[in-house]
Amino acid sequence: MSKAIQAVRGMNDLLPDTVERWQRIEAIARDVLHAYGYREIRLPIVEKSELFARSIGSLTDIVEKEMYSFEDRSGDNLTLRPEGTAGCVRAGIENGFLHNQIQRLWYAGPMFRHERPQKGRYRQFHQMGVEAFGIDTPDIDAELIFLCARLWRALGLEGLGLQLNSLGTPESRAVYRRELMRYLETQRGNLDEDSLRRMDKNPLRILDSKNPAMQEVIAKAPSLFDHLDDAARAHFEKLGEYLGQAGIAFTVNPRLVRGLDYYTRTVFEWTTDRLGAQSTVCAGGRYDGLVEQLGGKPAPAAGFALGMERLAELLAHQDLGAQPARPQIYLVLLGASAEQQGLVLAERLRDAGLRIECNCGGGGLKAQLKRADRSGAHHALLLGEEEVRNNSVTVKNLRDSETQTQVAQNALIDFLKKMTERGEQP
Ligand code: ATP
Ligand code: MG
Repeated sequence: MSKAIQAVRGMNDLLPDTVERWQRIEAIARDVLHAYGYREIRLPIVEKSELFARSIGSLTDIVEKEMYSFEDRSGDNLTLRPEGTAGCVRAGIENGFLHNQIQRLWYAGPMFRHERPQKGRYRQFHQMGVEAFGIDTPDIDAELIFLCARLWRALGLEGLGLQLNSLGTPESRAVYRRELMRYLETQRGNLDEDSLRRMDKNPLRILDSKNPAMQEVIAKAPSLFDHLDDAARAHFEKLGEYLGQAGIAFTVNPRLVRGLDYYTRTVFEWTTDRLGAQSTVCAGGRYDGLVEQLGGKPAPAAGFALGMERLAELLAHQDLGAQPARPQIYLVLLGASAEQQGLVLAERLRDAGLRIECNCGGGGLKAQLKRADRSGAHHALLLGEEEVRNNSVTVKNLRDSETQTQVAQNALIDFLKKMTERGEQP
């Protein structure tokens, strides 16, 4: 036997049990999103590399170290998307749905970052992203946060805390940047390699460093929050009022800068203390300059993305309700004539709205009942030689070995439907 090939490190298979759990999360999230008028958009997984350098920023961790970039057969430089906002803005400009319009959009799918894999951090991971375009005022920032809070409630998720900060406008940030650089100059000896490299071009990124050795330097740095311009401060205060009215608690974290360059004014993160080091479940903010930066007519925007793996991990012990993916009935087929009729009988039952797993590949009664049990179905239908002869089917309750009833085939659908109405499975 030759050696089995393994999956790429940090890229996981999602097995059916996990997928069904995710689908329940996604269904709940979809309902919440639709309750606020957000509509789904589906975007390519591969984009031109330049898109990410121009949006996320060329001196960020993502662009410097984490992107899966390659040259395709036509010599184009392409990248597996590390996040969804850039592609969404690109699509908006290209399809002309951003200019002078309000758009509320969401998307979901895999993202790719070449990071060190660990619990809650993978190389292929999944996000649900939400973006609102065309609204300049803090009401939309508040709505996005309300939407998150409603989603946590709908999922029965507790213990998520909201951290908030404002990055101000590009102008106020420039003033702060100069002051930060003066401070960092005095700290040169304490800076790590990444920080030294970022010092001249992108010193704010230093505040986002995850290096424990850098945390003291960061803690003593001047606060961006103290340098906000009046408009950004008023925006932030108004957002705080909206959140207060809705009873949503938050902490102002002046060190929250986010790992992407495109943010302006409001930034926020929902964090938990239940996932170890990977504590951020959902993160976002405003990116008022991005549309213009990517070649569109200026349009304000705000959004967030949540990490599905981290969310699912938090919900792992929660019962999210029914598992509609399991079949209600397993159809056992014994003998050649039963096999001959079985596939068609299964089709008829599905036409009547029932979920049927039909035995394929033969096998004796014992083997088929074992498969029936494993399928998760509550009942088996037995079609053997006798049943074929007298046009009947034996209905067997798999969870109670005593009950077994013969039913005429032309009365079968009625019988199964009555069983459902009585609240029995199926
Ligand atoms: P972190 O600080 O944890 O690296 P980030 O700031 O890089 O996160 P964003 O780009 O804001 O993350 O992505 C939004 C969310 O996507 C994160 O809060 C997290 O839940 C999830 N996420 C980001 N990177 C990964 C990853 N490599 N594996 C799993 N989930 C991730
Ligand atoms: Mg990251």
